[in-house]
Amino acid sequence: LALGTYPLSCTARPQQKVHFNASQLHADVDAPHAFVILGASGDLSKREIYPALWSLYRDNKLPSNTRFYGHARKNIDVAKLRENVDPYVKISDDELKRYDEFWSLNKYTAGTDNEDADYDKINEMIGKDQGGPDARGNRIFYLALPPSVFQNATTQIKRACMAKKGWTRIGVEKPFGHDLASSEELSHHLSSLFTEDQIYRMDHFLGYDMVQNLLRIRFANRMFDPSWNKHSIASVKINFCENMGIEGRGVFFDENGIIRDVMQNHLLQIMSLIAMEKPVSASSDDVRDAKVELLKSTKAVVMDDVVLGQYVGNPDSDDPRERIGFQDDPTVPPGSNASTFALTVLRIQNQRWEGVPFIIRAGKGLDVNKTEVIIQYKGIENDIFNGQSNRNELIIRIGTTEALQVKLMSKIPGFSSNIEEITMDFDYINEYKDLKLPSAYEVLLLDMFHGNQMNFVREDELKEAWKIFTPILHEIEGKQIKPIDYKFGSKGPQEADELEVKNNFL
Ligand code: NDP
Repeated sequence: LALGTYPLSCTARPQQKVHFNASQLHADVDAPHAFVILGASGDLSKREIYPALWSLYRDNKLPSNTRFYGHARKNIDVAKLRENVDPYVKISDDELKRYDEFWSLNKYTAGTDNEDADYDKINEMIGKDQGGPDARGNRIFYLALPPSVFQNATTQIKRACMAKKGWTRIGVEKPFGHDLASSEELSHHLSSLFTEDQIYRMDHFLGYDMVQNLLRIRFANRMFDPSWNKHSIASVKINFCENMGIEGRGVFFDENGIIRDVMQNHLLQIMSLIAMEKPVSASSDDVRDAKVELLKSTKAVVMDDVVLGQYVGNPDSDDPRERIGFQDDPTVPPGSNASTFALTVLRIQNQRWEGVPFIIRAGKGLDVNKTEVIIQYKGIENDIFNGQSNRNELIIRIGTTEALQVKLMSKIPGFSSNIEEITMDFDYINEYKDLKLPSAYEVLLLDMFHGNQMNFVREDELKEAWKIFTPILHEIEGKQIKPIDYKFGSKGPQEADELEVKNNFL
């Protein structure tokens, strides 16, 4: 028996490709639009928000009369903003004129010690550009601000900056609170000012093409439905691996750890899309209703279902970065118990999934960089091939290396009557030769213009997500539970592998 993995290519049928077309969506395209970035001088703004806005502008995706307004406390100007953003965009020679044009539509105001006056000024600037304070025009305010400023900023927007004739939408960045109670406090604050259809809680994973594809894979294909349940599936693993360390984010990590950073939000969103029941329709609210139901059926995580880890330097590594452990990073408070790795097992109590473990594994300082979902099917009953049949797997790769893979058993070609494992591989890079996927931020910011809330987190969804993780986070912090050391560049603690096997993931 030769067990091997052959990459068999599967091809997309060209006539079936349906490309994203912004014009099919409903934007009030003729009205003036203002996009206001609060926290314009910060890291997120320069790395994601401005580059995404530029790409959308370059590709004529935005309403033609859109202007951009940056605000932060620093006394800088648009030229300085542009200088900050330049390293994060690639501009070809023939795009230079358009890039200049984009920046000519930008303004920046620096904060003063009088916040009322600051927000009055933003309102005045927009009003002037949109044809007067009461003229028709739409406004998006994006909070690229530290969470401590969210409440003040939103109160000011409500007081001074709402559109008089047109809509106002508020983009909120994570973290949405630190636990259930603080998240509820923020939610109550936001709902006292805005309606839910004005609030866009950002989870950038929901902007990834493959994450959006999960709905299509499940509900546009007949073949998966009959086996998508406890009768056929042994376990599901959602795996997030990064081969970089925390790179100066020591304070953030000490306060939050990996569970808050990626599990309670991004990876739980992926699990919801994998495990939810079929929504009544593909509308934003029907899909989000289905996700909320699923989260309600998911039990809060318990300590027996958790492994925590923290990376230490690997003195034998050739890569100097791998020799630096979490505790060696000067931004990490000495003796920090923060986890840079976690494995948690989620248990869904409903008819479809009772008894199927959902293993969520995430870590920094690991051996590879990838995010994937592995759906592992049960073994064959009464295997007539002398027990040679391996479990089938559906692997969904997310992020920079989008791919769908299916592991199947197949006859070894030729005289042999034995079987071996083969992999059918649909890799975006091979299949869509000249495809350039938009960034998650491009996709989601455009959704904000179009009022499409499908890929934003609704208040009840957020609450259910926190209910699943808050008890364990409080227990870990209350008992000061120490994570297990693992070497930078390894697969993480061995205890995590053992817990996977115990949970039927082979
Ligand atoms: P930074 O600290 O780099 O930027 C914060 C921005 O807010 C700066 O422009 C700062 O400018 C401004 N700011 C701070 N206080 C005030 C205030 N009182 N009034 C007005 N502006 C203020 O943070 P990030 O850009 O990294 O993060 C911003 C938000 O995005 C945070 O909520 C973070 O959690 C979230 N986020 C960030 C990610 C990232 O990759 N960076 C990823 C995911 C989420 P100034 O000091 O000039 O006022």
